[in-house]
Amino acid sequence: MTQYTFNIKKQSIKNGARLGELITPHGIINTPVFMPVGTQATVKSLTPEQLLSTNSQILLANTYHLSLRPGIDVIKQHGGLHSMMNWQKPILTDSGGYQVFSLSKRRQVDAHGITFQSHINGDKARFTPKHVIDLQCGFNSDIMMVLDICTAYGESKSQTAQDLLLTHNWAQDSNQYWLEKQVPNWCFAIVQGGFYMDLRKESAEFLTSLNFPGYAIGGLSVGEPKDLLHDYIANCAPLLPQNKPRYVMGIGLPENIKLAIENGIDMFDCVIPTRIARHGQFFYEDARINIKKEIFKNDLSPLSDTCSCYTCQHFSKSYIRHLFIAKEILASTLLTIHNIHFLNNYVEILKADMF
Ligand SMILES: [Zn+2]
Repeated sequence: MTQYTFNIKKQSIKNGARLGELITPHGIINTPVFMPVGTQATVKSLTPEQLLSTNSQILLANTYHLSLRPGIDVIKQHGGLHSMMNWQKPILTDSGGYQVFSLSKRRQVDAHGITFQSHINGDKARFTPKHVIDLQCGFNSDIMMVLDICTAYGESKSQTAQDLLLTHNWAQDSNQYWLEKQVPNWCFAIVQGGFYMDLRKESAEFLTSLNFPGYAIGGLSVGEPKDLLHDYIANCAPLLPQNKPRYVMGIGLPENIKLAIENGIDMFDCVIPTRIARHGQFFYEDARINIKKEIFKNDLSPLSDTCSCYTCQHFSKSYIRHLFIAKEILASTLLTIHNIHFLNNYVEILKADMF
């Protein structure tokens, strides 16, 4: 029987935070961990070496995008995602359920899966729970996610409950199929249930009974107010098994990361640090600042005096501002390095404070 090991090394005496290590085929991940997003098998604007310099331990790629382009056959020819993109550390892949709902046209959900049209060329495609496990095994993802339905914010309770039923049936199919395959790749279940606490509870109970090695909370950070997001993180985290890794999908702002860690969440991912970098924004203390500002024109100091990232060690705000205004692509690279490094370092600061 394949072993999926998650060790909790320390529990905070101040709050629900824990220090853990998650053992994957491509190495150990020390948790809590922020995971930068590389949707198309690249963290936009960075080489793998630059990503390593930000102290990232794992990256996240996307099954929906990669199965449509370049396609599973091309990825398999490379021997999987790690060798294709020259990243030897762990990779987590999202199942693609979320993207089918947010990007594709003309989708049709039935009891066994989702048929949809590619947003790239309109080609018809279909995801079933087994198919997305096969795709992710073909990618050789260290951590695979099950196919689920991410219910939109503001959806009615009856629709949310209907979606949840399918999510649960699919989780059961995925689990059975994954167990049969006897692979070293982890498989996480995803708790859904929208913004109805009783449905969230039902979802956590049902999925826990299936005994997955790890659990995610999905369907948050989908446009709800911040207080509601915080309530749901705080109330859903304790519903998940104590001894298994817990992942909140789609959060990456410092205030949300802090709350998640305090509530015993081990993993989180978000496109925000990379996306805002490409729009000229960088993290500084509690704020996001735009490098375009006139006050930086002659500012020879780094983005942050206390940051040890490659960007802050070598470049001034004045230079990065010039690159951004001149539309030089290096501006995106330098700001992305800083933003990811900032969040990784922020997790370290929280750990130092909580343990
Ligand atoms: Zn920096």
